[in-house]
Amino acid sequence: MRYLADCVVTMGAECRLHRPGVLDVIGDRIAWAGAASEAPGGTIVEERHVGGLLMPGLVNVHGHSPMTLFRGAGDGLPLQRWLRDVIWPREGRLSPDDVWWGMQLGCAELLRAGVTTTCELYFHPRAVADAALAAGIRCVLTPGILDLPDAGSGAGWQRFLEEAALVHADLDGREGRMTVGLGPHAAYTLPREGLVEVATLAAQLDALVHMHVAETRDEDELVRARHGCGAAEALARAGLLDGRLLAAHSVWLDDTALDLFARHDVAVAHCPQSNAKLGSGVARVPRMLERQMRVGIGTDGPASNDNLDLWEELRLAPLIARAVACDASALGTMDALTLGTRGGAAALGLDCGSLEPGRLADFVRVELDDAAFVPADDDADMLTLLVWAASSRLVTDVWVAGRRLVAGGVCRSVDEARAREEVTRRARRLSAG
Ligand SMILES: [Zn+2]
Repeated sequence: MRYLADCVVTMGAECRLHRPGVLDVIGDRIAWAGAASEAPGGTIVEERHVGGLLMPGLVNVHGHSPMTLFRGAGDGLPLQRWLRDVIWPREGRLSPDDVWWGMQLGCAELLRAGVTTTCELYFHPRAVADAALAAGIRCVLTPGILDLPDAGSGAGWQRFLEEAALVHADLDGREGRMTVGLGPHAAYTLPREGLVEVATLAAQLDALVHMHVAETRDEDELVRARHGCGAAEALARAGLLDGRLLAAHSVWLDDTALDLFARHDVAVAHCPQSNAKLGSGVARVPRMLERQMRVGIGTDGPASNDNLDLWEELRLAPLIARAVACDASALGTMDALTLGTRGGAAALGLDCGSLEPGRLADFVRVELDDAAFVPADDDADMLTLLVWAASSRLVTDVWVAGRRLVAGGVCRSVDEARAREEVTRRARRLSAG
């Protein structure tokens, strides 16, 4: 299939912008991307004129999307009280069906916002996986592992770890769109032996470990009470830095901790909106990029954001970095686009995030016939406006693995009206207790 667009942004190693551009897709992979005038002849069987701008789909590197069930709950509370008083009691009452419907609604919202990959840390991982597979989105599933308060006996970390190993055996690689890792919640919700066992299993499986790290200033006290040291050190001692680690938030890391993470090639999921809403602070992304760390952006759960629109994070990341540094060059426009696409893919170790031959055919179409793109005379203007003036409302079509899941702004793979109804009804039950 050959797609002809008014503009193609490849986000390759050198971000090339082609006006007009061509994208060739064979099966679930990109065969060629570039200027229309240079497009190769030969094997293309079908041409589709899509107009607009084609770019890689956005990569959400930290989410708990089934939390659409708790959207807006506990507004105004700091993280620890929000978890203890509002979220964990509700999560203790979740059924797999609740999670399936929460994830279905989450997938529709993500896809319509142009997000083609989402990294999920949650309970009932089989329900999360089933819902993601049904919606067609690419998913890195990291089953939650923690001592969950209020869930009664049998809800200790050991059971969650065993379940995660079984889920990995059953679902890793499913339909070419599912990758299974491990999701130990945080150093403050697991004992030392829990972290060690996660590291051991991850090494056996060569699996990604995805966890919350140094999200708030206050949690340092909890981590020290449990481990006798700060979070970065606790993870190092448990062996977690020797494998593939994705550290969500990483707000309260000093230079020593960042150096340690950089030496071990730890990836970071930056969640500016969640961190701002919960009053957690601002991650030092420019310092991470200076150290050549792999950084992507995440929505976090819709109960702490309160939506799954990654375009907002893409703009908020440089906005906050510049505001904090009093420096308009603290985080560049291309840095923002990279965080949302290629950087996120690198953080997850996936073959998506850019439109280059051999990469996964996950891409989106952005409408250019809009005031947001006026005037855009040269290529630099176009990229600037894409970050600073456009938004997810201009995403019209979304493809994952070459399959069109959103057409004309409508998600075709999810019955959204039914999902909204189910989530409304279930959310009422979960909050009533
Ligand atoms: Zn989170």
